[in-house]
Amino acid sequence: MPPPRQLLGGGIVIATHNPGKLQEFRSLFADTAIVITTSDDHDLAAPDETGDTFAANAAIKAHAAARKTGLPAIADDSGLTVDALDGQPGIATADWAETANGRDYPMAMRRVRNLLMSRSVPEPHRAQFRSTLCVAWPDGHEQFYAGLVAGRLTWPMRGALGFGFDPVFIPDGHTVTFGEMDRDRKNMISHRALALKTFAAECLGAP
Ligand code: IMP
Repeated sequence: MPPPRQLLGGGIVIATHNPGKLQEFRSLFADTAIVITTSDDHDLAAPDETGDTFAANAAIKAHAAARKTGLPAIADDSGLTVDALDGQPGIATADWAETANGRDYPMAMRRVRNLLMSRSVPEPHRAQFRSTLCVAWPDGHEQFYAGLVAGRLTWPMRGALGFGFDPVFIPDGHTVTFGEMDRDRKNMISHRALALKTFAAECLGAP
């Protein structure tokens, strides 16, 4: 296996069309010297996520962006895994929110809730947010970083901050949902932040 590469100055493309994720990536990169551009800046289409793991889907997104732009690219594939639902929605987390008129996350959260109720699953409803990052270079080299935050689901939804399933997820050690937590606090403990921290340690030489 080739040794891990570093990003030595220059830029990186954040390969996402998800505004919530992009905002988090931007603040997580704020303290670095890396110049960020985005999928929109390069007119990148969203590739089909045909993989069956978070890593495979992150790789599809990162390689597509690196090939098209000639720059290193970073992509995250992430989702919510619920213990009592055998890890669902998992890599299909965004799909569970899909409707004819775009993504409807309150509907997706109700879907998870209804499934747990229909199976009479006792509380606490243990769950995790998981993120796998892939950094891909134009020559096809790739590196992966994973992060996980464990917690429990709560109903009704609480908080208008964040995105996706944030309003129903209380991370362990806290009493508020990710939807109630300000971004800086979420960015200290989130699955994406943890994955980015390992990425930064290996690729940016960060402590
Ligand atoms: P992806 O774009 O295929 O990785 O979809 C991941 C989906 O998982 C998102 O659309 C969100 O619904 C959910 N998700 C991932 N990370 C978070 C998070 O930090 N908060 C809330 N929902 C998230």
